[in-house]
Amino acid sequence: DDRIHRIASTIRVIPDFPKPGILFQDITTLLLDPTAFKDTIDLFVERYKHKNINVIAGVEARGFIFGPPIALAIGAKFVPLRKPKKLPGEVISEEYSLEYGTDKMEMHVGAVQPGELAVVVDDLIATGGTLNAAVCLLERVGAHVVECACVIELPELKV
Ligand code: IMP
Repeated sequence: DDRIHRIASTIRVIPDFPKPGILFQDITTLLLDPTAFKDTIDLFVERYKHKNINVIAGVEARGFIFGPPIALAIGAKFVPLRKPKKLPGEVISEEYSLEYGTDKMEMHVGAVQPGELAVVVDDLIATGGTLNAAVCLLERVGAHVVECACVIELPELKV
């Protein structure tokens, strides 16, 4: 699909951010290009429409950029998966490992019902630790995670 090459060409790579040695994939330059942004959303919408998806779960923060337009286009609800202590209601939380230390992801109780079909959205997958925590949260409330959708894959970090 030609759109994928055009989208890839809009993503900026910044060396040594946020730490020396890291090549940061910056999707803000993709967002500056309305055609690339629309093509990104359209590719996901084409993949997930007519699949009876009930839930698009977006990972904070960049899953909040790509998730909602996909949810609106396919007629699914949008559920934010947030960093600790951001959601005001009752939450369930899942701890996961980072390169150094751990972090937590939280979801509102009652946002997702047992048996619902969910897709998790984030900008980028590296080790998969973040998406794995997201999948655990959804499965703990009885949802079926059909797929995880990311704009960028860092294949060299596959484990
Ligand atoms: P993982 O848990 O190792 O798969 O890392 C993925 C998470 O780290 C996602 O939430 C990404 O937004 C973030 N992340 C890691 N590297 C980058 C990057 O180069 N650009 C943008 N986000 C990144």
